[in-house]
Amino acid sequence: MNAPGEVVAALRDIVGDAPFVGLHVPDISPLEKERVMECLDSTFVSSVGAFVSQFEEGIAAFTGAGHGVAVSNGTSALQVALQLAGVRPGDDVIVPTLSFVATANAVAHVGARPFFVDSDPETLGMSVEAVAQVLRAASSSPDGPVNAVSGRRIGAIVPMHTLGHPMRIDELVALAADYDVPVVEDAAESLGSRAGGVHTGTFGRLGIISFNGNKIITTGGGGMILTDDAELARHARHLTTTAKVPHRWEFDHDEVAYNYRMPNLNAALGVAQLERLPALLAAKRRLAERYRERFAGMPGATFVGEPAGTESNYWLCAVRFDAGRTVRDDVLTATNDAGLQCRPMWNLLHTQAPYRHLPHAAVPAAEAIHAGVVCIPSSPALAAA
Ligand SMILES: *Cc1c(COP(=O)(O)O)cnc(C)c1O
Repeated sequence: MNAPGEVVAALRDIVGDAPFVGLHVPDISPLEKERVMECLDSTFVSSVGAFVSQFEEGIAAFTGAGHGVAVSNGTSALQVALQLAGVRPGDDVIVPTLSFVATANAVAHVGARPFFVDSDPETLGMSVEAVAQVLRAASSSPDGPVNAVSGRRIGAIVPMHTLGHPMRIDELVALAADYDVPVVEDAAESLGSRAGGVHTGTFGRLGIISFNGNKIITTGGGGMILTDDAELARHARHLTTTAKVPHRWEFDHDEVAYNYRMPNLNAALGVAQLERLPALLAAKRRLAERYRERFAGMPGATFVGEPAGTESNYWLCAVRFDAGRTVRDDVLTATNDAGLQCRPMWNLLHTQAPYRHLPHAAVPAAEAIHAGVVCIPSSPALAAA
């Protein structure tokens, strides 16, 4: 089998013959231009303005979250969410080693340490079994479970919905509740993805979404904190806007806080993108279905589909190669040479320079996913090709 050549041919059948096809490019229509111009004309381009609340309310309504707090990016959203969940400097936070580096960085930003665990081969998300092992081995303290490996308190668990596919979130939330550890969901990639009909990012005490340029909808750069807890939402808004005590002219600030508010200009872009989200989701589902059919007959290759009982946004479509690393790297070379932008999964976080000195759990399934999965062009516009 000539895997690389066959993969290039299969991708070309779906995406057409454009000389360069990006992995995931933003989908901008006249509506986005109209809303951004409206914002510019209003002169409310910065941290005050109506688009921010409109965007927050829109995302809350779409996801079913009680509250949404718009911030500067997904990483800052996760940092603040971890702080609000009660994570303290010196804590461990359980994180999947298979994730984008921002998941671990946000943990480090609150002074805690990521404790990396394995992934689930079915969902590509954090393995609930792996988390259970860490919690079962932990000793209990009045402050919560203490990691037997590191001697540190386990401050939170951060599952991530990889490439938009929901992980086994309801099982994880039930497990975490048994040990009284808060769950903070990294739903950066999974706007539009649901597990058992419930939107990702709304299962944990807090969740976050990213609107970076490569995500399913974009605000240029941006993020959102989701929570059902009105007090946590109020505190998130306060912490991300310098903790200013409301007053007509005094500048009083009641805690160390951040300037993480999403600018109105970015929210204007987000309001337009959100209006188009259902159509973008439908396009991505059509594209995924075409890929799934096209790769169905290819030996040694499997299209990565949504886990049973879930609805994925198919943020990034991906193919898994049974032969692992050798075929993966040949496929990456051949596709990128052919102008088809394909990418491997992120290098595992426990191997990355800032984190490789930390203790971690065994991660054989994550290593296999890393070795075998290639992300393929996934822009919604490709569904029209
Ligand atoms: C994109 C992403 C983030 C961070 O979002 P930014 O808006 O780029 O800061 C966090 N976690 C995961 C898994 C992501 O894919």
